[in-house]
Amino acid sequence: MKTSIATVCIAGDLREKLAAIAAAGFDGIEIFEQDFITFDASPREVGAMVRDHGLEISLFQPFRDFEGLPEPERARAFDRMERKFDLMQELGTDLVLVCSSVHPKALGGIDRMAGDFRALGERAAKRGLRVGYEALAWGKHVWDHRDAWEVVRRADHPNIGLIVDSFHTLGRKIDPDSIRSIPGDKIFFVQLADAPMIEMDLLYWSRHFRNMPGEGDLDVTAFTRAVAATGYNGHFSLEVFNDQFRGGSPRAIALDGHRSLVYLLDQVKRAEPDIAVEVPEIPPRIRAEGFAFVEFAASEEEAQGLRTLLTSLGFHLAGKHIAKQVEVWQQGEIRIVVNTDPEGFAYTAHIAHGLNICDVGLTVESAQATVERAEALGATPFRQPVGPGELEIPAIRGVGSGLLHFIDRTSNLADVWEIEFEPVAGNDDTGAGLTRIDHIAQTMNYEEMLTWSLFYISLFETQKMATVDVVDPGGLVRSQAIESPDGAIRVTLNGAETHRTFAGRFIADSFGSSVQHVAFATDDIFATADALQANGFAMLPVPENYYDDLAARLGLEPDVVARLRAANILYDEDAQGAYYQIYSRAFGDGIFFEIVQRAARYGGYGAPNAPFRIAAQRRLMPATGIPRR
Ligand code: MG
Ligand code: MG
Repeated sequence: MKTSIATVCIAGDLREKLAAIAAAGFDGIEIFEQDFITFDASPREVGAMVRDHGLEISLFQPFRDFEGLPEPERARAFDRMERKFDLMQELGTDLVLVCSSVHPKALGGIDRMAGDFRALGERAAKRGLRVGYEALAWGKHVWDHRDAWEVVRRADHPNIGLIVDSFHTLGRKIDPDSIRSIPGDKIFFVQLADAPMIEMDLLYWSRHFRNMPGEGDLDVTAFTRAVAATGYNGHFSLEVFNDQFRGGSPRAIALDGHRSLVYLLDQVKRAEPDIAVEVPEIPPRIRAEGFAFVEFAASEEEAQGLRTLLTSLGFHLAGKHIAKQVEVWQQGEIRIVVNTDPEGFAYTAHIAHGLNICDVGLTVESAQATVERAEALGATPFRQPVGPGELEIPAIRGVGSGLLHFIDRTSNLADVWEIEFEPVAGNDDTGAGLTRIDHIAQTMNYEEMLTWSLFYISLFETQKMATVDVVDPGGLVRSQAIESPDGAIRVTLNGAETHRTFAGRFIADSFGSSVQHVAFATDDIFATADALQANGFAMLPVPENYYDDLAARLGLEPDVVARLRAANILYDEDAQGAYYQIYSRAFGDGIFFEIVQRAARYGGYGAPNAPFRIAAQRRLMPATGIPRR
């Protein structure tokens, strides 16, 4: 498989773009004219620079308003093209993209257009160059790849072919399977982009909102399957116009782009095993079975506060590490690791971020396969020295500052708690009825949200849910859930647009995006509330107004509201079921715990309750036993 990306997708000058594109693992680039017009080097030098980065120029683009013109515009278009042919030869590329005309004088007429391309094919052939024709979704006469193909078919010239672009086909809601009837050798190039489903002007949507395959709502997989089924075996190239990406980090965006292509082509090959495209064999998307642990990096003073908080939540100290200052606290299937060791990753993470969740463990079928797939998708493996008697647990760096460790049952990794930890006697699991981790919530800058969702979706068998706006008194926070089909893992991504929000302040204060809250599940929220009260757990108080509003909003019976009010429980419901929430006060730089009960098949995360929670946490921010830095 050959991967490529248009230089216009990412930020920076040409040199920065090339470095980022090469580092991400692409084979080629689509070079945009603007990118080297503004660059201070000759086309020949630019071509050499591209090749020095180990890249090829797979396409030169765009050439606009070529076909179907009357004279004298027609002759001028051919002259203009001859000059571009000169340029292409100096750059060292043989393929140019001609997009369907939007010229006001373009006459249309399929045979006229085909005739123009046949004549152009003759000129291109003399120089050993090729021309690809692309239907723009807003073209004047041609806006459908089926019509562009008919022009190419009638042009009937070996140097004239078709270029298909997933955005133009899927954005126009054209059935991508119509590509299957086109001969693969007449498709010269394939451009890929996704986009969120927003009803707006096609041109504006295309120029500002495209994103990487898998990041949006278009069925880019169905499109790419159809292309591959034709026998096409050329470049799969990203052409993504996105305001956010153009302002983002070139390396991060290039990495996301490459990840999106590896993910996409892996999905395509599984669905269409007979295609000619050679796709590296990697393990399929990983089914995560649950959260194995959540690890805090803490100072001894912070750990003291954390122990008190965990105890009040019904956790007990279950084990102490054989060699390190690491404890594991347990309740039900939940394990919270508290790491105060003066060495290793947690220690470094603590120096950088203060008290933070530096590591999340996931239970998977094969830890080895998980790391293998993650590495193929461009993730960075993580290793640190392993002491005598300790296990080497496979791990990668997450998208933010933290780690992900993988524990499986096929090896002895699941026994790590017995192998590396001394049990602590006399601490029975009386608990408060907390059974497992329902979800973890990660907070990041809004611009990073797509990176995070692509990371999870491409690695794990998960799906992304609709984005929800969470109203914070300081601004808006976008929240998107990533879930496995059976709900075994749920991660909410919270993108903060401003540092005035509670989530935004967390990122600023803790110097980086990471897990801000962990939600524990209970099967009986009222019994848990009673147990927590008896344990002296400092619940987040819920204002009286909340319950008055709740009663009015959802039409709840007075006795139900009274029970919720007495126990400080927040409530939400959807068509499938109900949701009960209890929150802790915030600690550290704004970390907190949540306790939830999902009744029936409630699918959300209590977004309508977030403003009340945030307001209360802001008021009580410093009021826990855990010091802020
Ligand atoms: Mg295109
Ligand atoms: Mg939550």
